[in-house]
Amino acid sequence: MSVRPLLTEDELSPSTGEGFDVERVRRDFPILRRTVNDKPLVYLDNAATTQKPQTVIDAVTRFYSYENSNIHRGVHYLSEHATAAYEEVREKARAFLGASESREIVFVRGTTDAINLVAAGYLRPRLREGDEILVSHLEHHSNIVPWQLVSGEKGAKIRVIPMSQSGELILDDLDMLLNERTRLVAIGHVSNALGTVNPVREIVARAHARDIPVLIDGAQAVPHMPIDVQELGCDFYCLSGHKMFGPTGVGLLYGRAELLEAMAPYQGGGDMIRKVSFEGTSYAPIPSKFEAGTPNVAGVVGLGAAIDYLGTMDWDVVMAYESDVLSYAIEAIGAVDGVRLIGTAEDKTAVVSFLLEGIHAHDVGTIVDQDGIAIRTGHHCAQPVMDFYGVAATARASFALYNTKDEVDVLAAALEGARKVFQ
Ligand code: PMP
Repeated sequence: MSVRPLLTEDELSPSTGEGFDVERVRRDFPILRRTVNDKPLVYLDNAATTQKPQTVIDAVTRFYSYENSNIHRGVHYLSEHATAAYEEVREKARAFLGASESREIVFVRGTTDAINLVAAGYLRPRLREGDEILVSHLEHHSNIVPWQLVSGEKGAKIRVIPMSQSGELILDDLDMLLNERTRLVAIGHVSNALGTVNPVREIVARAHARDIPVLIDGAQAVPHMPIDVQELGCDFYCLSGHKMFGPTGVGLLYGRAELLEAMAPYQGGGDMIRKVSFEGTSYAPIPSKFEAGTPNVAGVVGLGAAIDYLGTMDWDVVMAYESDVLSYAIEAIGAVDGVRLIGTAEDKTAVVSFLLEGIHAHDVGTIVDQDGIAIRTGHHCAQPVMDFYGVAATARASFALYNTKDEVDVLAAALEGARKVFQ
């Protein structure tokens, strides 16, 4: 197997002359120092969830140790401070996503929750029989099933932007798919199964030319690129904290204020009301209208720390580094005898999906686990993508900014070993 670096050290950091100091970054993540099966952990399951830097762990621990209180309800010191901490993260999230107002940021449980909120709060009251919702063939189940739930209720239809063998969307028929019956376009920014970066800006522009709103599922994009929702022009953007070095159980929905204001509440309960009586209830303004019940306050605080952490990164340098590791991985994994790469899009980030001839994907995962390597095997909650390629499952190595070419070498060697076992 021959592998070679695709960028020189100088090319990696053209603007600063300093390379990306991955070893320093790795020291921020305590779990990366552990062993699994007596081998150094090689964590390549970042599309499922990322690891957490010490600053995020500390923020959550500090909150529960010294600052814990419910928010928005108390006049006492701790409640006021917890409320301020929670609302500060909303402002941080606004800046992080380039939104114009912090009331356009709704705290949710994650991407799945955000999409369901839009399905129930935005789409359900607007959807009529014969209407259409446009998704793409590359979507995660989270960006398919919520639309099916409401369209099933209303007699509406899901239409699908097709994909090519390389795992890229085919936009040739987009202007036909976008028609007077289309009520919403829901599109992934980056495919979790293949890593394809979709041309979301173009899709937004073409949908908006027909006054059709667009939701972007950004779960796999936020850890790998800067996001500016105003530049993208989208109407909704959804993300999960745990995929961007933050805690599980917390995420964000960005929605244009005008749309959020026109939306029905998703869930009823405490904190989302203005006035309740048995005769009727009026609702709080956005975003509180969508945050019924006690939220994941510690999670939001941890998400704030993750946003701060990403804020320390020079994206040009990080993206060049990640792209270099990905190119190296595509070559190294692709060079293993019997490997078939699944998804070879031109514009791709952080994911290598593959099959190893003669070995079931699950067995590949189990074998490399013996060497302390965590990869994911299965359908990746993207069964339509698997069906397209006629496979039930793939093995998937997915990368974050702390992964290295050395780790790619460890995986490639383990795959070579697996081939020998099964020959
Ligand atoms: N969309 C994409 C593209 C994803 O990769 C995932 C998680 N694998 C989700 C949505 C759902 O995210 P969560 O489980 O955090 O709600």
